[in-house]
Amino acid sequence: METLFALANGYLGIRGTFEEGTPVFQKGSLINGFHETWPIVYPESAFGYARTGQTIVNVPDGTLIRLYVDDEPFDLAQATLLNYERTLNMQTGILERDVIWGKGSGKRIRIRSRRLVSFEHRHVAAVSYEVTLLNADAPIVISSELVYQEETRPVEGDQRGSRAFAERVLLPQGLQACGGKAILTTMTRTSRMTLACGMEHVVETDGSYDLENQSSNERGRVLLSVNGIAGQTVRLTKLLTYHDSRHAEVDELAERAERALERARGLGFDGLAAGQHAYLGTFWDRADIEVRGDIELQQAVRFNIFHIHQASARTDGMGLPAKGLTGHGYEGHYFWDTEIYVLPFLIYTSPQLARNLLRFRYRMLDAARKRAREVNQEGALFPWRTINGEEASAYYAAGTAQYHINADIIFALMKYVEVTGDSAFLHQEGAEMLIETARMWRSLGFYSARANGQFCINGVTGPDEYNTVVNNNAFTNLMARENLRAAATTLQEIRANHPDRFAGLAHDTGLSDSEIAEWQAAADRMYVPYDEAAGIHLQDDEFLSKKPWDFANTSADQYPLLLHFHPLVIYRHNVVKQADIVLAMFLLGNTFPLEQKRRNFDYYDPLTTGDSSLSVSIQSILAMELGYRDKAIEYLRYGLWMDLADFHANVEQGCHIASMGGTWMAVVYGVAGMRDHGGRITFDPRLGKRIEGLRFHLTSRGQLLTVDIEGRKGQATYLLREGSGLTIGHLDEELKLEPGKPVSRAFKS
Ligand code: BGC
Repeated sequence: METLFALANGYLGIRGTFEEGTPVFQKGSLINGFHETWPIVYPESAFGYARTGQTIVNVPDGTLIRLYVDDEPFDLAQATLLNYERTLNMQTGILERDVIWGKGSGKRIRIRSRRLVSFEHRHVAAVSYEVTLLNADAPIVISSELVYQEETRPVEGDQRGSRAFAERVLLPQGLQACGGKAILTTMTRTSRMTLACGMEHVVETDGSYDLENQSSNERGRVLLSVNGIAGQTVRLTKLLTYHDSRHAEVDELAERAERALERARGLGFDGLAAGQHAYLGTFWDRADIEVRGDIELQQAVRFNIFHIHQASARTDGMGLPAKGLTGHGYEGHYFWDTEIYVLPFLIYTSPQLARNLLRFRYRMLDAARKRAREVNQEGALFPWRTINGEEASAYYAAGTAQYHINADIIFALMKYVEVTGDSAFLHQEGAEMLIETARMWRSLGFYSARANGQFCINGVTGPDEYNTVVNNNAFTNLMARENLRAAATTLQEIRANHPDRFAGLAHDTGLSDSEIAEWQAAADRMYVPYDEAAGIHLQDDEFLSKKPWDFANTSADQYPLLLHFHPLVIYRHNVVKQADIVLAMFLLGNTFPLEQKRRNFDYYDPLTTGDSSLSVSIQSILAMELGYRDKAIEYLRYGLWMDLADFHANVEQGCHIASMGGTWMAVVYGVAGMRDHGGRITFDPRLGKRIEGLRFHLTSRGQLLTVDIEGRKGQATYLLREGSGLTIGHLDEELKLEPGKPVSRAFKS
């Protein structure tokens, strides 16, 4: 519940812990990118290993509001609750709790709290805390705090968890306190990141009250005392703000905190709430998916979309952690999850956010150049997992070896450019990223005599982390081919049409004409492993030589395999953690004939454990395309309830944001059958059991398209709500849409 009820805006996240502070599993107030570093110590080290660990750390907790009535504490775990309700309102962006506490004395007290993390004001969060004595007078004391919190619980033997620090990470730097306000400043011990956080209070009550500031360097504390009168409500508004930096002095941050609190105070909780509602109104208008026929499915779809938004909305110049800001899992690191699983949603609903995230990668290019040198390659190699741009993966087999990260970023970049038409971005930041990633591939692979002189890439790990350090992972080779081609085509185009820019790039990167030709040649001669006898693509050269996994004798509680078998046992078997070839068949679907897709899917799907949450959504899309509708819907439902039903038994660590992005794809690409190869949008709607209809919106080239698929009528209606004209495809037909004029076409539901 702490994870599911977490509130976040992409900059600041607060887990859904209770105001009272207990009962609690894992507290968490997180700022995107606010991390501590530590030396990775290898008992047996080797050249080029990642050296610096990075872990997101808790910032001081501002949610704490302790209530005393008749000097007795309100203890959620012990109290008699005559009513208890907690609601995450995805329309208003407010987490609400309403309880009635029945005291032994017969007094009844209603406690209503509302919490928000503002989308509009990314540094601000607020709590409205109301206490109503329902049937008797009593003294009320409310203690509102801002406290340093202990670090996270490590999860023994599970690399998906987070790290615990032996020493205190946040070193207090100072305090400013007066009246209802307290501002704490602090610095991380090793990474030297600075932070100011503050709280301010507004009291509303009919009677008199007393406000006492008891803050110290270690914690902010404001005490409110009221002589409560039956029937009257005491309302405390708590405004919170957080400001962090890698460079700025704490005093400067404290000033920013001061100003933010001042502004938030001016708006009050109601003003902030109104802004939140309006912000989300705009969001849902462009990003909602309406599902007809299944109310639960509808709610799950929206829950997933809401959390993707919470993870991404105000990342501004930052990356997007695998768990968003809902938990400490994966240490707050950024992975390929962003580009392959979340960017499609953002490209089609908030292209500006997609651009920001791609720019964020661009800004990591220097670090990626350095990393390429460290692993003896040319060009740039993006880190498999990182916060600050440096590789943070301590296990190279399932980390650094995932060179496909380079191609994933470029794939997303090209998709973004195709869908938005943002060629300025392609020519500026994009071109440099293309050059450096293509260089990396060219230096990583070689023309192998044993493969008839084709271009081979050995010693890599594909998306499937159960087959590591393999030769010619098909996904990697296919995606590298796209990367090389995109680089060659784009640079040729710039050379032909923008000679000045080309000259600038040649100057800055040392690019030569022959290099472009080399990328093209490597792409043209890329080796893609295929087994003629079986008629399938090979996940890698040796995949078919491995021992079959004994699925029949693997019990349900032995999944995920990674928690029950030594990696080497897994690596020598024919077992797949997550969609790999199947993912390639989705991303590069136009390069595989349908029958080939069927043969590959029929072979790989049964071997896929889905031990990574990134798998089922992709399996769903392919199953739908191949006409395995029941299977597709089953996978979709599994993805949608991944966190709601805690299918992977680790929701405590945070939401699986990539999986959530995957569910959006499984609805839009799967159920609605959208494809967008080369930027041309086509639909082949299929629906499926219990889904009677769908309605969703896509932004393409600045135009807003609404798609309405009606199962009973077997009709799809396309309406261009904003824009001047858009050409799309429905089955094999081309439709030229004009604004405001819906076009309907039949399909076989
Ligand atoms: C998956 C990776 C993913 C990571 C973070 C792992 O379990 O295998 O593909 O990037 O989780 O979500």
